[in-house]
Amino acid sequence: VRKCEVCNSEDVAVSLDNLSFSPKAEDNEQEWEYRLLRCHQCGLVYVDPKPSWQLLCSFYGSYGIYTSAGRDLFGGKGYLKYIAAKYRYATYARNGLLEVAKVGLGVAVEWITGRTVPFSLGIPLQLPKDSRIFEVGYGSGDWLLSMKRLGYRNLAGYDIDANPKNSSWFVSEGIDVSGGDFLANDYPEAFYDCIRMNHVLEHLLQPHDVLGKCRKMLAPGGVLALDSPCIESVVARLSFGSFTNLDGPRHLHHHTLMSARLLLESAGFDVVKMKPYGVLMLIPTTLNAILHDRGINQIKIPSFLFLPCAPVYKLFCLLMHKGEFQTILCRKRQN
Ligand SMILES: [Zn+2]
Repeated sequence: VRKCEVCNSEDVAVSLDNLSFSPKAEDNEQEWEYRLLRCHQCGLVYVDPKPSWQLLCSFYGSYGIYTSAGRDLFGGKGYLKYIAAKYRYATYARNGLLEVAKVGLGVAVEWITGRTVPFSLGIPLQLPKDSRIFEVGYGSGDWLLSMKRLGYRNLAGYDIDANPKNSSWFVSEGIDVSGGDFLANDYPEAFYDCIRMNHVLEHLLQPHDVLGKCRKMLAPGGVLALDSPCIESVVARLSFGSFTNLDGPRHLHHHTLMSARLLLESAGFDVVKMKPYGVLMLIPTTLNAILHDRGINQIKIPSFLFLPCAPVYKLFCLLMHKGEFQTILCRKRQN
């Protein structure tokens, strides 16, 4: 059995066996079989065997999240989300009375809606508009575009193979985007004030090397704001095989709080803050996935029924120190 990639422990067991992934039908490729291993030391769950880069790229053939929502990003509730996120961490930049009041408002919004503002959304908004900000894995690019609309001037991003139509549009907006192999690309060192990774860590073939490169790219005192799914969650425990967060084999690593901390520290970061948080909507989607896996397609549990319970679930996750996701803020360690 392969050693744990994070803590090197050999105390590893098979967690879920006989899994398979079918690449797109037109590629005419065979099913790829894999399993999930769990480390008993740090709790990391990971895909075994490790896929090749080529195989990994085939996982994304049918991936639907690379299309930007478009130019009207702040229509509807979009703008309010950014205001709430900016208020939530207002004391990050300045610790005045006004900022404390803003944090209070941000926290109130969190509790009313039962949601949590991740550091990857709230922290970059505290930085001056000329800060150099880089997003690893920009996906649809909506976040970079939103930041541009909010007046941020020095934005850059990388994605493995983002929508080419979007990338030329981003370049015309003055956002510096790149693709291909992140580790092989040339980026300025000791340059960026903030790097953001929003649900990217779990997709990486070489997370330690990517984080190490991010550390080099950061200016002294620069921060990394990162979110990822967390395997230490009630939903994950109750429904392991059907847990929609597994998104295997695209999610190569499923972290616990401990494994994420160990990985970040070994890559040269100091963890400033980390918190797990519950995402209630994953309960109906997971229940529906369980039904689907059992061949029951007639019943579909409507997710709106769960909405009123969101604040209670948030409280539950806070007390249990568990959640479906985790958000982490770290700083480049100087040595
Ligand atoms: Zn481990």
